[in-house]
Amino acid sequence: MKDLDRVVAEIAEEMRTRPDRGRVADYIPELARADASAFGIAVVDASGHVAAAGDCDAPFSIQSISKVFTLTLALGMVGDRLWSRVGREPSGSRFNSIVQLENEHGIPRNPFINAGAIAVTDTILNGHQPREALGEILRFMRFLADDNQITIDAAVAASEQRTGYRNMALANYMKSFGVIQNPVNFTLGVYFHHCAIAMSCRQLAMAGRFLAHSGRNPATGYQVVQPERARRINAVMLTCGHYDGSGEFAYRVGLPGKSGVGGGILAVVPGRASIAVWSPGLDDSGNSHLGRIALEKLTKRLGLSIFGL
Ligand code: GLU
Repeated sequence: MKDLDRVVAEIAEEMRTRPDRGRVADYIPELARADASAFGIAVVDASGHVAAAGDCDAPFSIQSISKVFTLTLALGMVGDRLWSRVGREPSGSRFNSIVQLENEHGIPRNPFINAGAIAVTDTILNGHQPREALGEILRFMRFLADDNQITIDAAVAASEQRTGYRNMALANYMKSFGVIQNPVNFTLGVYFHHCAIAMSCRQLAMAGRFLAHSGRNPATGYQVVQPERARRINAVMLTCGHYDGSGEFAYRVGLPGKSGVGGGILAVVPGRASIAVWSPGLDDSGNSHLGRIALEKLTKRLGLSIFGL
């Protein structure tokens, strides 16, 4: 991709010195330790070239970005039956909101809000022990990124397990509707741990390649999912990937993307590139403040928005 290296380096430099950096999440105490001055970016283009800059090799807590991969796994296990347990409409509510669940009989709006992701995790857990389900998720991440060094940050998982009252409420509430089928503490244990997977921008961009290339890893030729499924996962990322900030992200960046409260964002340029950015400070919707600004600059300068130049 022409000018990719130069533009990526320029953006990293601009982000390094910006004074507005958002607020680091502290509702999971361990996440509050993240360094607000960090910024990393990595872009893998269709030829496999990686343009990376800033703190692109520093591992961070991927948090909700893991939900893209658990959705992929769950669809692989139960196919479209998944959609009877979770919807695929934008929620317009905060990521951990409980209000919609009552009106909608315990069926979460989409797989990317917390309630939806917990229901997806419960699907992966069916017929397995929590340890096996978690191993499956971690192996999938390592396989996609082609990197066996990826691990779970046990301190982050324990921190959320101690303080995740809101997610416990969501899971118990869904259990009362029969939407959660396994013991709530098993499902949440797996959920908290997959959110605590630590990856760098480089590893994450590598893991996202299949979504940018019709379900296929262009480096190995391996078909991870069928093209139709990749297209649909991208559609859900576009409409739901940034919680109640999804409209703003589509408006400004114009790419399917998924954010996490660790400050990471995975974004997909269909047919062209997989991108990961990281900066721990968040905006009011819980999305990386500088991550979004960096992606907006990148898509503008390289003409990458799916909506045109
Ligand atoms: N583990 C986080 C939670 O459940 C994920 C939220 C996020 O990354 O947006 O609150």
